[in-house]
Amino acid sequence: AGTSTEPALLFFSEEMNQRVREHLRIESELRDAPGNGELLLYYQPKVSLRSGRIVGAEALLRWRHPVRGLVSPGVFIPVAEETGSIMALGNWVIEEACRQIARWRDAGVAMPPVAVNLSARQFDRGLPQRMAAVLERHQVHPGQIMLEITESLLVRGADTVIAIMNELVAMGLALALDDFGTGYSSLAYLKKFPISTLKIDRAFVVGLPHEENDCAIARAIVTMAQQLRQEIVAEGVETMEQMTFLRELGCDQLQGYLFSQPVPAADFERMLRGGQCL
Ligand code: C2E
Ligand code: CA
Ligand code: CA
Ligand code: CA
Repeated sequence: AGTSTEPALLFFSEEMNQRVREHLRIESELRDAPGNGELLLYYQPKVSLRSGRIVGAEALLRWRHPVRGLVSPGVFIPVAEETGSIMALGNWVIEEACRQIARWRDAGVAMPPVAVNLSARQFDRGLPQRMAAVLERHQVHPGQIMLEITESLLVRGADTVIAIMNELVAMGLALALDDFGTGYSSLAYLKKFPISTLKIDRAFVVGLPHEENDCAIARAIVTMAQQLRQEIVAEGVETMEQMTFLRELGCDQLQGYLFSQPVPAADFERMLRGGQCL
């Protein structure tokens, strides 16, 4: 030991030091982001394969940083989850989504349900109460909101999670399981949860229809979802080939760049007024 490991340690510590500094900088700037008006939501349509219409939207968080420009959630959500500021960010997202739904309603725009992403840390006993307060504040019907959760939540203490889910569903909110297939949920496990929608992760859509393994996984997920009477949404759909394959499988909805990237609210509204998407 001793001297022979020192250069390596020094090398790593400098690299890590830089990562830590970057992390700390993001952390402190992120704390001020909501108050500074630097956060915004983009919306991406979910398209029905049956009607070709937009039947939903996913709200995706963006951070407009004064120096860095538009920062992707892939960069700052993990930091926010680690530091706990995800609560403040998550609350801002729910509030803003409801505020936008209310704006659209007041402008006479017929809006499909808007899905917001929830981190596991937001999913506590206080969530139903917080949701009820925001819905009330903006006079938004719970049917207008869908909550996208991930499998990591299901493996945590199941009873508490199921109780909170049941409370949310009883209020009229719908639950979607995001990134399905990347975790460990089995058919038997999944049916314990009041989840109405499964989203097939982009990782399995990418290889359709050429990668045999991806085809098999997509087919298994759709079959399973049909048995559980769940709606099935495929995410990350980029090509006509993928669309055709997923339609033949019996997928209900598609989401992806083939239809639209996530766009600002005003652009999404224009898309909605335009009608057909397919
Ligand atoms: P996600 O929930 O799986 O969202 C889908 C991501 O895939 C989005 O990335 C979207 O822009 C991207 N995407 C959609 N269609 C396509 C496609 O056809 N091709 C490709 N290559 N990508 C596509 P985005 O907006 O960068 O968000 C990344 C992740 O950050 C989200 O993954 C979600 O986990 C998280 N996130 C975003 N907004 C929020 C939020 O408000 N709260 C929380 N907790 N997480 C969020
Ligand atoms: Ca999502
Ligand atoms: Ca997803
Ligand atoms: Ca994903």
